[in-house]
Amino acid sequence: MKRIGLLTSGGDAPGMNAAIRAVVRSAINSGIEVYGVRRGYAGLIEDDVIKMDEMSVSGISARGGTILRTARCLEMLEKEGREKAVATLRKYGIEGLVVIGGDGSFHGAKCLTEEFGILTVGIPGTIDNDLEYTDFTLGFDSAVNTCINAIGNLQDTMLSHERVCVVEVMGRRCGDIALYAGIATGADAVVLPEKPYDIKEIASRIETTRKLGKFVNTVIVAEGCMSGEEFAKKLKEFVPYDIRSTCIGHIQRGGTPTMADRVLGARLGVRAVELLGSGVGNRVIGIRKNEIVDMDIIEAVSMKKTFDTTLYNTLQMITM
Ligand code: ATP
Repeated sequence: MKRIGLLTSGGDAPGMNAAIRAVVRSAINSGIEVYGVRRGYAGLIEDDVIKMDEMSVSGISARGGTILRTARCLEMLEKEGREKAVATLRKYGIEGLVVIGGDGSFHGAKCLTEEFGILTVGIPGTIDNDLEYTDFTLGFDSAVNTCINAIGNLQDTMLSHERVCVVEVMGRRCGDIALYAGIATGADAVVLPEKPYDIKEIASRIETTRKLGKFVNTVIVAEGCMSGEEFAKKLKEFVPYDIRSTCIGHIQRGGTPTMADRVLGARLGVRAVELLGSGVGNRVIGIRKNEIVDMDIIEAVSMKKTFDTTLYNTLQMITM
C-alpha cells in the first residue's frame, strides 16, 4: 500500500482531529502517502483532495470539529455519484480509504468496497454512541462532558429559583447521551427513545423529592423522543413548580475533546493505518473492554444497537 485517502463524513465529533493526526503521522512513519479529502463524500465526488504531510496535522488534537470539514452528500446514495468518487480515488492512485464517521458513512464505505473493490477502513466518529460493535464512539465522551457542564450551570440557577429544569440533548435513536448525562448530573428522570416513559410517575417523583427538601429537579430528554419544550409543556400539567426548558443543541458537538477522545482517536487512527498497510480493508475499528478491535464492515453496519439495561437500572437505583 503506497497511498491512502482519508475523509470525515456525517456529523462532526470532537476527537476526529486526533484521529486524522494519527492516521497521517502513522502512515507517513510507515512510508505511506496520505491524501485528505475535504467535505466527506462530496469532496471525493468533486475532487477536493489535498496531499497531507506531518505538519498539516500539527496542533490539531486539542481542537473540536474536523480540519477536513464534513458534509452530508445525497449523490453518494446513487451509483453514478459513487462512480465519480471512485474515479477521484483512481486519479490520485489511492488504494485504501479511511472513513471517519457514523453509521451512514460506513454504508457509503461498504458500497465502495462491494461495488468497486476499494479497501476501506471505518473509524466510528459520532457523538451518538449508536454503533453496536464498539463500546464507545469517538466524540461521545466529549459531548457528554459538555452536556454535564452545561447542566451543572443550569442547576445552579434553577436551584436558586426552585425550578424544574428540562434539558434536551442530542440522540435521535440512541439515548446514550441522555442516559450518561443523567447519571452524571443526578437527574431525577431521563426520557429516552429506547424506553417508554410515564409522565405522571415522573411528576410524582418530583413531588416526592420536594417533600424531602429538594429545591431543584432535572429531567433530561433525548431529542428522539420529543423536544425539551414539548416535554416541559406536558409536565406543567402535572407539577405546580416553575419549569424551564433548555436545548443544549450544537454546543454539545463542539469544544475541546476530552483526554478519552484524544487517546481513542489516536489509537483508532494508528490501527486503521496498520490494517490498510498490511493490505486489509473492508473493516471497521472500535474499542471493546479497552482493546482496539476490528470487524467486517458489512457485519458491523447490520448490527442493531442494544440498550444498556444495566446502566438504566443503575440510574433507577440512584434516583429518589
Ligand atoms: P452521524 O451519526 O453523525 O449522523 P453518519 O455518518 O451516520 O453520522 P449520515 O448523514 O447518515 O451521517 O451519512 C453521511 C453520509 O454517508 C451521507 O451524507 C451519504 O453521503 C453517505 N451515506 C449514507 N448512507 C449511505 C448509503 N446507504 N449508501 C451510500 N452512502 C451513504
